[in-house]
Amino acid sequence: MTQHFDVVVIGGGPAGLSAALNLVRARMRVLVLDANRPRHSATLFAHGFLTRDNISPLELRRLGREDVSAYENGEVQFAAVDAVTALPDGYRVVARGVKGHPDRDVHARRIVVATGLAEILPDIGNARAFYGTCLHSCLECDGWEKQDAPLVLIGESEDLALQAFRALQWTNDLLVLTNGAAVIDEAEERELAASGIRLERTPIDEITGERGVMTGLVLADGRALTYRAGFIRPRWEVRLGFLDPLGLDADGDGLLIVDERGRASRPGVYAAGDIVPPGPQQIAIAAGHGAVASATIVDDDVRERRAFGTRPV
Ligand SMILES: Cc1cc2nc3c(=O)[nH]c(=O)nc-3n(C[C@H](O)[C@H](O)[C@H](O)COP(=O)(O)OP(=O)(O)OC[C@H]3O[C@@H](n4cnc5c(N)ncnc54)[C@H](O)[C@@H]3O)c2cc1C
Repeated sequence: MTQHFDVVVIGGGPAGLSAALNLVRARMRVLVLDANRPRHSATLFAHGFLTRDNISPLELRRLGREDVSAYENGEVQFAAVDAVTALPDGYRVVARGVKGHPDRDVHARRIVVATGLAEILPDIGNARAFYGTCLHSCLECDGWEKQDAPLVLIGESEDLALQAFRALQWTNDLLVLTNGAAVIDEAEERELAASGIRLERTPIDEITGERGVMTGLVLADGRALTYRAGFIRPRWEVRLGFLDPLGLDADGDGLLIVDERGRASRPGVYAAGDIVPPGPQQIAIAAGHGAVASATIVDDDVRERRAFGTRPV
C-alpha cells in the first residue's frame, strides 16, 4: 500500500532537517530521505553555527535526525531518491535504501529539494588526503583556525583574485597558486602584489605530507614549497538528474531557481540550502533556507484550504 506524506524532504543536511523539524512541528507528516553523502563529511569540525561551534558535522546531522524523529509524525531514512514523478495530487518519490535501509516508494503532497552539492577538487595528486584538515574551501568557516599562518590559496576559478583579497582578513602571508589555469590577469596580478600577495602560476604536481598533516607542495618544475595549511577552491556540481522529468527552472550552474519564500518553478516543489543560488554557503544559511521553505509550505496549505473551504486532515 502506498504511504502518503504531507511532505517528503529530499536530503538530510542542515537545510532538509531544518525544514523537516519545522514541518513536523506544524503537524505535517514528513519523511526525510537522505543519501547520507554530505559534502562536509571531509572535515572533523564545523564552525560558526550558533551554540554548536566546533561540532563534528556528522554529529550535527545525527542530532538533527534525532530532533525530527522524536516527533511521531517525522521519519528520517537513509535512501537515495532516484525518481520523482508528478501526479495529479502531488508527487511519487522513489528511493533506493542505503546502509541496509529499505527502498521506498511513497506519495507526497509536496516535496522539498535539499540535496546540497557535490564538489570536485582541482586535479592535484594527494589533495583530497589533506582536504578538511589542512586544506579548506570556506574562509569564513575555517579561517580563524589558520589565522596569521603562512597559507596557500589554490584555485582554478575566475574568482580566485577576489578570494585572495578575502583571505587577507585572516593572514598577511599568502601565496596564490593557479595550478596553471589562466584565471588571474596582469592587472589583478599587480593588485595582488600591491597587497603583498604572492602569485605562482606553475601547475602543482602534488601536496606532500602524511596522515592528514600537510608539509608542502611540489610544483611541476620540481620546486618544493613548505606550507602547512591553506584553502583550495573546488568546483561544485549539481546532481539533480532524477528531477529532470519535472522540468524545474535552474540557473546557468544548474542551481534550482526559487522565489524569496523557497518555492521552485512548479507548484508543490520547494528547494533550500546549497542547491539554490548562489550555491555553497554555510550551515546557518542552509538551515535558515529550510525554515523559510517550511513556513512557506504551511502558508501555501492555508491558502489552498481557504480557496477550497477545507480544513487540515
Ligand atoms: C569541507 C567542508 C567544511 C565545511 N565547514 C563548514 C563550517 O565549518 N561551517 C559552516 O557553517 N559551513 C561549513 N561548510 C558548508 C556547509 O557544510 C554547507 O553549506 C551545508 O552543509 C549545506 O547544507 P545542505 O543541507 O544544503 O546540503 P548538505 O549538507 O550537502 O546535505 C545534502 C544531503 O542531501 C543528500 N542527497 C543528495 N542527493 C540526494 C538524493 N538524490 N536523495 C537523497 N539524498 C540526497 C546528500 O547525501 C546530503 O546528505 C563546509 C563545507 C565543506 C564541504
